[in-house]
Amino acid sequence: MLIVLLGPPGAGKGTQAERLVKEFQLAYIATGDILRSAVKSGSPLGQQAKGYMEQGQLVPDEIVVGIVQERLAHPDCAGGAILDGFPRTVVQAHVLDNVLGESGKGVNRVIHIDVDEEELVARLTGRRVCRECAATYHIKNNPPRVRNVCDRCGGELYQREDDSISTVQERLEVYKKQTAPLIDYYSSKGLVTVINGNQEIEKIFSDIKAALEKDRA
Ligand code: ADP
Ligand code: ADP
Ligand code: ZN
Repeated sequence: MLIVLLGPPGAGKGTQAERLVKEFQLAYIATGDILRSAVKSGSPLGQQAKGYMEQGQLVPDEIVVGIVQERLAHPDCAGGAILDGFPRTVVQAHVLDNVLGESGKGVNRVIHIDVDEEELVARLTGRRVCRECAATYHIKNNPPRVRNVCDRCGGELYQREDDSISTVQERLEVYKKQTAPLIDYYSSKGLVTVINGNQEIEKIFSDIKAALEKDRA
């Protein structure tokens, strides 16, 4: 089962993915997390990606596609995977289709998490992320048990630089122009389930679970 989580920055893709990988025992591929750890390590990939990410722009397709291709070839993806934050352009979606097609596979379901724009800004500017395990929290909506400490691993929480208000606005524009067209792309293939992302985290999770269980049945 290959599932794509599609939705604007702050929709809750990472939050839901964390629950879904456990429930369905899938590998988790989050291009944003992979790119952030490359930036942190100062690797050549990180050096290439850093400037784009800081400005809220997309990292060029060739770079991101390479990462995902490599990741999908890992044995842990054999039983299926959740893609969070990829594809983000129609070019990326085409390449993904071609790569999967070579082994007779394809995307099985696209979960579009739909959230109102004002809510996205509030979610992104209040987001905190664990430095160690990348778990995501929100200062009001989903606070850790102890302030600035990760519930899961005890790591320190930080605010992503691109979650500042000015970069958030740029990222929302980039989403509308470059990523939202994927909704039509996958709808024309009959793969999209729209989920109301303006609800509580647990309600969204049960809606997504219900959609995926229908596929599995
Ligand atoms: P969000 O929480 O906004 O969904 P991510 O953590 O997925 O953000 O991505 C953070 C940044 O990493 C993006 O703004 C972009 O610069 C880069 N990035 C992540 N995934 C991709 C991708 N598939 N294509 C291009 N750039 C990407
Ligand atoms: P994305 O991966 O789509 O960028 P995240 O999962 O990181 O989004 O969520 C963005 C922020 O919103 C985080 O601070 C998270 O704790 C919070 N959040 C996620 N889902 C909800 C929800 N349903 N209601 C309120 N806040 C949420
Ligand atoms: Zn942690």
